[in-house]
Amino acid sequence: MAQVQRMSKLMVKTLRDDPADAETLSHKLLVRAGYVRRNAAGIWSWLPLGKKVLDNISRVVREEMDAIGAQEVLLPALLPKEAYEASGRWAEYGDLLFRLKDRKGADYLLGPTHEEIFTQTVKDQCSSYKDLPVMLYQIQTKYRDEARPRSGVLRGREFQMKDSYSFDTTDEGLAESYALHRAAYIKIFNRLGLDHRIVSAVSGAMGGSASEEFLAPAAAGEDTFVDCPNCDYAANTEAVTFKAAVAPADAPGAVEELDTPDTPTIETLAAHLGVPASATLKNLLVKIDGEIVAVGVPGDREVDLGKLGEQLAPAVVELVTAEDFEGRPDLVRGYVGPQGLDKVRYIADPRIAAGTAWITGANKPDTHAKNVVAGRDFEVDDYIDVVVVEEGDPCPNCGTGLKMDRAIEIGHIFQLGRKYADTFQLDVLGQQGKPVRVTMGSYGIGVSRAVAALAEQTADDKGLSWPKEIAPADVHVVAAGKALQTELALSVSEQLNAVGVRVLVDDRPGVSPGVKFTDAELIGVPQILVAGRRSAEGVLELKDRRTGEREELTVEEAIARLT
Ligand code: ATP
Ligand code: MG
Ligand code: MG
Ligand code: MG
Repeated sequence: MAQVQRMSKLMVKTLRDDPADAETLSHKLLVRAGYVRRNAAGIWSWLPLGKKVLDNISRVVREEMDAIGAQEVLLPALLPKEAYEASGRWAEYGDLLFRLKDRKGADYLLGPTHEEIFTQTVKDQCSSYKDLPVMLYQIQTKYRDEARPRSGVLRGREFQMKDSYSFDTTDEGLAESYALHRAAYIKIFNRLGLDHRIVSAVSGAMGGSASEEFLAPAAAGEDTFVDCPNCDYAANTEAVTFKAAVAPADAPGAVEELDTPDTPTIETLAAHLGVPASATLKNLLVKIDGEIVAVGVPGDREVDLGKLGEQLAPAVVELVTAEDFEGRPDLVRGYVGPQGLDKVRYIADPRIAAGTAWITGANKPDTHAKNVVAGRDFEVDDYIDVVVVEEGDPCPNCGTGLKMDRAIEIGHIFQLGRKYADTFQLDVLGQQGKPVRVTMGSYGIGVSRAVAALAEQTADDKGLSWPKEIAPADVHVVAAGKALQTELALSVSEQLNAVGVRVLVDDRPGVSPGVKFTDAELIGVPQILVAGRRSAEGVLELKDRRTGEREELTVEEAIARLT
């Protein structure tokens, strides 16, 4: 039988202050409430309370995966390089991959996701169409050397993922396996109490075609999505792209040299363009007082030069260099230079890097920048996708203005098709006795990330506030007083435990009721049961963590209420 968790014995140290390096709410609260402990950047320990929440999420995921007939396995996290070399991902993953060598000098990696190894497993275990379809999953530790492992367990370098893979002989079969996963994910996130949207996504390094993401709207999210208020269109901005021309290395500069001193003013810029200082311009690229205030956007956004001047006059226009755009993909719009997305041509132009101020064109005849039109001014090497969507842009389905929000990616489902099956020649013997190439899907849920996502969505100014199914206990009993209160608290705790209620009891001696209440609200168990003032009469106070509603109950009433 489960045991009452006694705070007097439990390893939980709550903190009054936010950790210095914490930026997101979940990071602050999970550390302060004693759920997790940071070992290194993006590397976390799960303490007793945190482990309970993590396990609760895993249990829900497991139940729903089992319900669609997926089979649980556990594959290694330490993997030999060869399979990833065969798929091309040993190179493709670049710095994201944790690589290591064994004592003989052979190369290994710590698995970031497991398409290769699952494909090999099925190749080994399944030989006939009768063995398929098969869906396999694991809940396992994944490793990615993320560039910015901030935000606590939201973005770990070591993290828990549920990853599953489906294997079918036909496209219809794959569509079916995908639909099963999609439905299971909806159930999982509903049970977890996570508000979520399903959006179109790009496939990223996984490759393959159809793909959707499950996003949990939250300010701390690192993803941006557009959502139509009128129809069911929703997409990650990563998926909303336009084709941009890539100019060859020897293309002429896509900018016009500004014949002014090194740091021109708004007036000299306007004069240079041959427009009044109040003009509305397009394709403007200016940095003023250390901040980029306008960026060249071909034809889709306008900048009021006059307002700019008014706001900042007598502002000084500084130099814009490629460095200014590092880590600011939101500023990278327009057409793209020979180095790819992070080097927009007019930004990467060596003359800019060399320290001359530049401005590209205006929206009136004869003032347009020279050398900016792909095909007209230079030959196009290639086209690549550049994200471009803004709040209020028309929905591609119905034309309604799109809403734009931040969100946390909590799940991702892909129809991979035959990419990995081709790599590893995964065939089974078909009905006609001929080999049939298998088609695959891959499906992920960020199990450890879901803990933080849930914290982000449910916490309030007092602390965490878990939904019942995920909370580390059903009720947090507080002994608010001396021996009498402690005795009642422990007795009611045992009685609740005996009828299957999960109890956390604050029986810490010498800790004031005030501190215990604050801690109870910080820890976030959904019901708080206080043995206080009226303990001698056997009366307790039950408080709802989320609504703050309280009522006085006898022991019997409290037990009846909580079961
Ligand atoms: P992100 O865009 O946040 O980097 P991803 O698209 O790279 O995530 P996937 O490869 O789709 O992630 O992995 C499946 C799921 O694993 C994601 O939907 C997310 O919930 C989770 N996940 C991915 N990276 C991390 C991480 N660094 N820490 C915690 N969870 C993660
Ligand atoms: Mg990623
Ligand atoms: Mg992603
Ligand atoms: Mg993803």
